Amino acid sequence: MLTFTTVADIQAHLQSLRAAGKTIGFVPTMGALHAGHLSLLDYARRDNTTTVCSIFVNPTQFNDASDLEKYPRTVATDTEMLIADGCDILFLPAVSEVYPQGIAWENPFEFGDLVKVMEGAHRPGHFEGMVQVVKRLLEIVAPDALYMGQKDFQQQRIVASMLEQQHSRTRLVRCPILREPDGLAMSSRNVRLSSEERAVAPHIYRSLQQAVSDKAHITPTELKAQIHAQIEAASPLFAVDYVDIVAADTLLPLSSWQGQEAVICVAVRLGAIRLIDNILI
Ligand code: AMP
Repeated sequence: MLTFTTVADIQAHLQSLRAAGKTIGFVPTMGALHAGHLSLLDYARRDNTTTVCSIFVNPTQFNDASDLEKYPRTVATDTEMLIADGCDILFLPAVSEVYPQGIAWENPFEFGDLVKVMEGAHRPGHFEGMVQVVKRLLEIVAPDALYMGQKDFQQQRIVASMLEQQHSRTRLVRCPILREPDGLAMSSRNVRLSSEERAVAPHIYRSLQQAVSDKAHITPTELKAQIHAQIEAASPLFAVDYVDIVAADTLLPLSSWQGQEAVICVAVRLGAIRLIDNILI
């Protein structure tokens, strides 16, 4: 695996690959890698001749300074995992490489409700920062395809809108959520859970699975209330931020089941850690 830390070096290398007819599949991450991240690389490898993974803890998408400070940073282990996994290129830039003019910017996109609901309502500025870094990383890597997880459902929906607005030639591939054997969605934040918190965490996914089987009998509004109550009843350590049942395309709340693809999204605080999960229906 080749590791690049500067924009000039990775661009020169990717340019030579492109000239040789290679295609590039790109997986942007914030590191603290787990099998979920590696599964995105598997999809990238399936479709492309070259895989690029970036690790960059983007300061502009953290609305909470302590979350940024405590975000796990495990670059040495991440690098070993990527080598063992067969990743071709790691991009590991400093903040000054990604934002040479500083972090201020003007968002040129119009996302409407996509950025106002769910995570947008609960984490002010988060998506603005996420779009800023994804736009910049795509300028640098210019991949044929971009691989993002369904785990961050709203994020990939917003990036899809950004690519449309840019008339980008990059394809976005949404990859399924990888879970621990007990159902907890893999997340870099899971390592920060205490053993007590970790023991109850699988209740989040259990309540989503239960919701899918109960869906036929009740309205989306009733189902939301049921999921909320089930999670909070499972342990006093849980505090639900939101449960939303939305159309997968518009992210607008469903008031009835209308046959379109829908997604149930939850954000939950478990002690000091905030976890998100979702299920498609
Ligand atoms: P992050 O490092 O958390 O920014 O995540 C980088 C990418 O990995 C994003 O596209 C995430 O949606 C994706 N991802 C995170 N967790 C999982 C998971 N459990 N399964 C599949 N993809 C994931």
